[in-house]
Amino acid sequence: MRQPLIAGNWKMNGTRAGAESLIRGVLAGSSGISKSEIAVCVPFVFLELGQRLLAGSAIRLGAQNVCTETGGAYTGEISAGMLNEFGCRYVICGHSERREYYGETDAIVARKLAMVTSAGMTPILCVGETLEQREQGFMEPVIAGQIDAIIEANGIESFGRIEIAYEPVWAIGTGKTATPEQAQDVHAFIRRRIAAHDAAIAEKVRILYGGSMKPSNAAELLAMPDIDGGLIGGASLVAEDFLAICQAG
Ligand code: PEP
Repeated sequence: MRQPLIAGNWKMNGTRAGAESLIRGVLAGSSGISKSEIAVCVPFVFLELGQRLLAGSAIRLGAQNVCTETGGAYTGEISAGMLNEFGCRYVICGHSERREYYGETDAIVARKLAMVTSAGMTPILCVGETLEQREQGFMEPVIAGQIDAIIEANGIESFGRIEIAYEPVWAIGTGKTATPEQAQDVHAFIRRRIAAHDAAIAEKVRILYGGSMKPSNAAELLAMPDIDGGLIGGASLVAEDFLAICQAG
């Protein structure tokens, strides 16, 4: 049985005061929710605040990116060791916005995953196809390519230490959600792809759905057998909405 993980991806949003009240709101409303594991992936500059406010709670802290290197002359970068020191449990890697706007290739993403796991944290590997790729019938090869690249670079065992998020690019921040059946098909495809190498790891790995998940559609998505949680963008910025999704898990 895979416990659902509901992770908020705040992206580059919020002020210090807003971050504090959002974390406090999630903290206050989460006490009765035991069904899902809850995480908030905040901008780097709010990690210390998150670490302080979430200390002793069941809510996990996460970051949204990490450097491919362990340290040194990499101006503007943040290492996995630094994130670990600030209490991060999760690090989002390979989000489609990073792949699209910052040129992150599968090779870069694989290296980031390795950095995160070697520092003792858990990466959330994002994969997903664009609308054009889906419409042209390339959804499966695109997703397979993103998964296979990690297997080739880091080995199938690495999937025993990561979470996966299927995020169709056309559903992110657009209000368009994959139907539960569409999402389930892709999640099952990903699990089969991993099972072809190691059935036990495939059975255990959590595959989250991300793409305009909100309180009104969370329950039906999360009810699908291969959907093991959600990566939540917009709706994670409003405590009540985020908590309603956590409750649906
Ligand atoms: C995301 O960017 O990870 C995401 C799922 O965003 P949204 O929920 O806003 O579509």
